[in-house]
Amino acid sequence: MANIVEQYIEIAKKRNPGEPEFIQTVEEVLTSIEPVLEAHPEYVEAGLIERLIEPERGVSFRVSWVDDNGKVQVNRGYRYQFNSAIGPYKGGIRFAPNVYPGIIKFLGFEQIFKNSLTGLPIGGGKGGADFDPNGKSDAEVMRFCQAFMTELYRHIGAYTDVPAGDLGVGTREIGYMFGQYKRIVDRYEGVLTGKGLAYGGLSGRTEATGYGIVFFAREMLKACGESLEGKKVVVSGFGNVTWGTVQKLNELGAKVITISGPDGYILDEAGVSGEKVDYLLELRSSGKNICAPYAEKFPEAKFFPGEKPWGVKADLYIPCATQNEIHLADAEKMVANGTKFLCEGSNMPTTNEAIKYLMDNGVVVGPSKAANAGGVACSCIEMGQNAGHTVFSPAQVYEQLETIMVNIHKNAADAAARYGLGYNLVAGANIAGFEKVAQAMMAQGIV
Ligand code: GLU
Repeated sequence: MANIVEQYIEIAKKRNPGEPEFIQTVEEVLTSIEPVLEAHPEYVEAGLIERLIEPERGVSFRVSWVDDNGKVQVNRGYRYQFNSAIGPYKGGIRFAPNVYPGIIKFLGFEQIFKNSLTGLPIGGGKGGADFDPNGKSDAEVMRFCQAFMTELYRHIGAYTDVPAGDLGVGTREIGYMFGQYKRIVDRYEGVLTGKGLAYGGLSGRTEATGYGIVFFAREMLKACGESLEGKKVVVSGFGNVTWGTVQKLNELGAKVITISGPDGYILDEAGVSGEKVDYLLELRSSGKNICAPYAEKFPEAKFFPGEKPWGVKADLYIPCATQNEIHLADAEKMVANGTKFLCEGSNMPTTNEAIKYLMDNGVVVGPSKAANAGGVACSCIEMGQNAGHTVFSPAQVYEQLETIMVNIHKNAADAAARYGLGYNLVAGANIAGFEKVAQAMMAQGIV
């Protein structure tokens, strides 16, 4: 069976040259589901894996817009609709200068399993553009979003494909894209999630991803007989995900000692809490760097320019910035510091060799596709809210979110145990996510 998995990886490499991020996730997922393929030769027979690693559809399109100086700008937009076996394509849109098909495909592929793990009826997809919203005026962002949606609208719909935010795409961008979609199709429908509360958005969606990550981390610690109370936590990033994570960690009695931005990281042994979290929010919306001003305002904090926080000793690490922020050398530092837990907040923050090293050295790793699934789960609740022409209260949302995260942890742990892999959440999440999609694909024939 190892041989056949290698063959699939070779197919993916051949079909997607120069796209290492996509190959990285394909390797990670396929290696974990090897025992499932052994138990289900009919999946191999049905070409299920060859179909799974090939997006059902992918579009690339020109996005032309005019900047504030009257100059024409051209960007490239994408949407990869990866798998619709269990529901409409669902996944965010990323605006960042490094966006290219390899990034969108890696995110879209991850989304298949993440969405399946939520237990909700959503397939996997992802989109984006090589547009950098940093330093752009509000009017420029609006024009870009409108131009982007003028092409994307024909590929999406409440029952076809429901995009949301990701890096560089927040409530403001979703608002501009939603307005343009509605203007073009002349229909009010839940085609995007992460909307503002005034027009169909879900209470709690903004913090959902971060809260969900902490619930997942709490379950990981609980499974090992520990709790978050009094734990020192190293967190990276400073966006929405970090903000929700920091808030919930504080609420559950843990101490957040770092945050990071493009300019470096902050070590604050007194804990990032209270007015410091509010200040972070202020800095974030100003679009400026965060670490230097934070250290200026709170002099007890130390600023390490241009560095990452992985060498700081902690009980738990929660990377929340972007993909591949933890390499083997970082994992070695964590192990040397005696940590037992890493819970991934951002999508694929750890390289495959770093994950292996951590796990080989007894660190429990909570994979992002399980740990950060609370965001997309709440997106699906938003779809339900829109389709039912109703509004859910924050309490209703938080309760569902917590239940979903507890179930994801349990299903991942159980799946690994069923295949004799012990408490291995990385393999378990891949297996549990894959099983449902595989059953649905088998039932629907060769499509
Ligand atoms: N971009 C988020 C993720 O990585 C959210 C996707 C969504 O809500 O559709 O899961």
